[in-house]
Amino acid sequence: MYQSKDSKMGALRTLSVLFLLVNFVTLHVSATTFSVQNLAPDTPGGKRYAAEMGDEWTIQMLQDVKTFDVNALSLSPEKPVDHITFIVEDTDAAASNSNNEIHVGARFLNGITGDLRFEIKGLMFHEVCHSFQNNRGDYGNDAHFRGVVEGIATYMELIAGYGIGPKVKGGNWYAGYETTAHFFAWIDQTQISSFVNRLNQRMGLLDWNDNFFVFITSKDVDTLWSLYQAEGF
Ligand SMILES: [Zn+2]
Repeated sequence: MYQSKDSKMGALRTLSVLFLLVNFVTLHVSATTFSVQNLAPDTPGGKRYAAEMGDEWTIQMLQDVKTFDVNALSLSPEKPVDHITFIVEDTDAAASNSNNEIHVGARFLNGITGDLRFEIKGLMFHEVCHSFQNNRGDYGNDAHFRGVVEGIATYMELIAGYGIGPKVKGGNWYAGYETTAHFFAWIDQTQISSFVNRLNQRMGLLDWNDNFFVFITSKDVDTLWSLYQAEGF
């Protein structure tokens, strides 16, 4: 009797340890930290950044965007990213993400009309997504893979409600950005829910293959694109 009680306690202890371990892993994985570097503080764009965004707001915004993006890709384990740096620099380049450094040109930033916080946050759904989406493929040489990676990133901006460019008929499915994002949203709505989440999950398991479309929707991508062109506008 004592022994059986003890083994029950033992089982409970094992469960507690497991619970703590699971919590630890969860906390550990999601502990991405953020920082900001304004390398163009004396330029009009650098001054506008400081006046209209500021470090504190920007860091909180990046955390919120990360939470949204990771949640939208929840079928895959969260990629461990220790740190993301947001850098304002004296160039006219638009936003880009290179090895978890998000670069924004001060001149580009200064050219944004309207609510700077809203516009930059919209762009960050795309850039932050690049740090967390699965990317097993050849970005430089495989236009299909590249288009999917850029389409998924802009899809985040679309579903977050940050108005990307309008749907435009024509083009091709792997053009990336708005074109592919709108196409993926149509697949979500008409073929299978959580399509992008499922696609990203697949992209974490295997190198890019056009057959992922067949695997997920039972239709090949050319058939889907034809249907979208015929019915999606
Ligand atoms: Zn991109």
